[in-house]
Parts: sequence; C-alpha cells; structure tokens
Amino acid sequence: MRTPIIAGNWKMHKTLPEAIEACRRLEEMVEDAKAEVVVCAPFTALSALKALGLNKIKLGAQNMHFAREGAFTGEVSPLMLRDVGMDYVIIGHSERREIFGETDEMVNSKTLAALDHGIDPIVCVGESLDQRKAGETEPLVKGQIQTAFDGIGAAEAVKVVVAYEPIWAIGTGETATAEQAQEVNAMIRATLAEIYDHETAEAIRIQYGGSVKPANITELMDKEDIDGALVGGASLKPEDFAAIVKY
Ligand code: PEP
Repeated sequence: MRTPIIAGNWKMHKTLPEAIEACRRLEEMVEDAKAEVVVCAPFTALSALKALGLNKIKLGAQNMHFAREGAFTGEVSPLMLRDVGMDYVIIGHSERREIFGETDEMVNSKTLAALDHGIDPIVCVGESLDQRKAGETEPLVKGQIQTAFDGIGAAEAVKVVVAYEPIWAIGTGETATAEQAQEVNAMIRATLAEIYDHETAEAIRIQYGGSVKPANITELMDKEDIDGALVGGASLKPEDFAAIVKY
C-alpha cells in the first residue's frame, strides 16, 4: 500500500516570518491527515522551519547541487541540506530545466547525490504543450525516467517520489484531466517495472502536479496510479493546501 504524499512547492515566495506563520497554521490544520505532508520552502527558511519541531509536516528543499562541496558559487549541496534536516528535495522541476538549463543527466546526478545523503528526491518529469501536440509525451517522459533512475538500485529507487508535471499545466490554471494524468502515471509505473520489477514499481509513489486545487484533488487521487500531488500556487495559502491534503 502506497502512502499518499502531498507536497507544496513554495517556489520563490515567502519571507521568513511568512514561512513560519504558514507552517504553524498548516500544522494545526493537517495534524490528523492520512497523507504524508511536505513543504518545500526557499533555502532561507529551511533551518528556521526545522527548528519549529513540526510533527506532521516534513520539510524539503526545491533544488540542490550534486556535489558534496566545492567551488560552485551560489549553490547548496546535499550535505548542507542534510545538515538542516531535510527529508525531501525537489529535483528537475520544469522551471529548473527550462530557465536554468538542467538536463536529464544533471537530474540523475542530483537524484543519486540526494539518495547518498539520505534525502528522498522528488523527481519531476513532464512534457511541454508542443511535445504533447506532437505525440511525444510517452517517449519523452519514458526517457526522462530512464535517465533519472540510471545507476540507482531497487532498494534506493523505492525512496524516490516521481512527480509527473505536464509543463502546460503548471501555473496556468489548466489541469490535465484525471484520465490524462492517470495515463502518463501508469506509463511511468510500467517503465519503472521494465527498469526494476513489478514489486519495485508498485512501491514507488508517483504524484501529479499542475494547477492542483481543492476542487480537483479528489478526482485525481481517485486514480489508481496517482499517489499524491506536487502543488505550487495553491500551497501558498495554508487553508487551500490543507484542503488539498485532506482531499
Ligand atoms: C509546480 O510548480 O510544481 C506546480 C505544480 O505549480 P502549480 O500548482 O501552481 O501549477
């Protein structure tokens, strides 16, 4: 049985006081939720949020470098994230891929590095609108998954969370239908079964992300291969995010 996982991606939002206030309010509202709850906050807020000693909410970063340390001005390493007690890290978000040029190979290096440091990666994959229209969704997402999991054994692979995030649905208000999301998530699970085996693929959690809101979460979560959501905009308001967590 896979435990559902709902993760909020705050992106470049919230000052320190705002982040603390949001997590305190959210913690009260989701205390008894069945799903695992993760907040991926900006780097600047991570240690202060960790110091709150939250019970229900787990914490994650939104990116990291793959090297343990070195001359990489402005970057944050897996060792540093472990230092501040991070449970999760988002890897290969489409904004990182599109704006900052992250490749599938970098996503793989970062995924390996996170696992090496005991941080569970949330690996994002997904196609653009042009790629969907050109019928490229399946080969593209399949390739992203194959490269992301390259060199990762089955025992470690089950710690990875995959987030299927069609780029055309991120921050646009346009959600993939539950059927479209299920179709790709099922294909991702089939790909994982090809790489590993049926049992391993069944154990890996696969989220959907892209304009998830309180109004559409139930329909998405009803689908067999949708094990949670990665939520951007709607995670910024604790009330909305709590409603999604308690779908
Ligand atoms: C995201 O950034 O991962 C995301 C899914 O954003 P939104 O929910 O705002 O579409």
